[in-house]
Amino acid sequence: MSRKVIILGSGCAGSTAAIYTARANLAPLVLEGHEPGGQLSLTTDVENFPGFPKGVQGPELVDLMKQQAQRFGAEYRMERATEVMLRHPPFTVKTEEGTYRAESVIIATGASARMLGLESERRLLGRGVSTCATCDGAFFRDKEVLVVGGGDTAIEEANFLTKFARRVTVVHRRDQLRASKILADRASRNDKIEFLWNTVITDILDPGKQEVSGVTIRNTVDGKEDTRKTDGVFVAIGHVPNTAIFEGQLELNQGYIVVRNGSGTSVEGVFAAGDVHDLVYRQAVTAAGSGCRAAIDAERWLEAREDG
Ligand code: NAP
Repeated sequence: MSRKVIILGSGCAGSTAAIYTARANLAPLVLEGHEPGGQLSLTTDVENFPGFPKGVQGPELVDLMKQQAQRFGAEYRMERATEVMLRHPPFTVKTEEGTYRAESVIIATGASARMLGLESERRLLGRGVSTCATCDGAFFRDKEVLVVGGGDTAIEEANFLTKFARRVTVVHRRDQLRASKILADRASRNDKIEFLWNTVITDILDPGKQEVSGVTIRNTVDGKEDTRKTDGVFVAIGHVPNTAIFEGQLELNQGYIVVRNGSGTSVEGVFAAGDVHDLVYRQAVTAAGSGCRAAIDAERWLEAREDG
């Protein structure tokens, strides 16, 4: 059986695409992916999603979107696409559980923030450890925070965080930034920002208290270890778009899916939405908006195909 549309991913982009395609009577199948609910499922308070004046918990927000899509007939399955064949429609999507075919595919597999890989980081994510200053900066008013990384994202986040935090310390593993000169210059002129060079974080304290109180650090040159007090840790060491299974089948740029004419990919009938194609904004609301766009593009493409 070939379906009209399969949506890969169940974050803001995937579920918004599901709401729109379900309401267009396309009976979408949503394969939830390896991180059901996407990055929001890993956060706590979300205060910048329109419509929630008192804020909303990330997992609750994605669950509400899912319920909304299901109400209109979207089918969700806790499965992860492991292989796709996108040469021509009907497209094939394989999971560990089965094989599905569809006339169109909306890819909303997102991007995962690259993490340091510490157990304490995992346990404190959303409790003082964050991967998004735009989302969580306001929780650190008059506090001291660390930003890990030396690229554009880290420096942009550090600059942004000085709107709220008393002091922002950029912790970088080398003694030179990778970030563009203009951002780096802005940061070095900002007297709320200081740099801790040649330093890696080896642990984040204190998972037992469910809050961040400090970090242990190691100098990468002389190996010396130290501890440092902090109220928050922003991990800004890059993102990894979840596109491994599309390599060689879709045009990618730095691993992100290239879109043209709205949400169209290099293969007709395959559309992309959310962080999987977005290097710049990476917000829940922009992901939701692009999910709507991909759904409308898919609906129109299916209609034109049936008419032609
Ligand atoms: P990025 O350029 O890949 O930089 C990642 C940074 O994290 C690097 O400084 C890297 O250190 C460090 N790092 C990586 N893994 C680490 C680890 N395990 N432990 C400690 N540090 C680690 O990523 P990005 O800053 O997210 O930028 C991604 C792309 O978006 C870039 O092309 C960037 O120019 C673009 N961007 C542009 C803007 C803008 O123009 N306003 C804003 C944001 C992003 P090393 O330097 O030692 O490798």
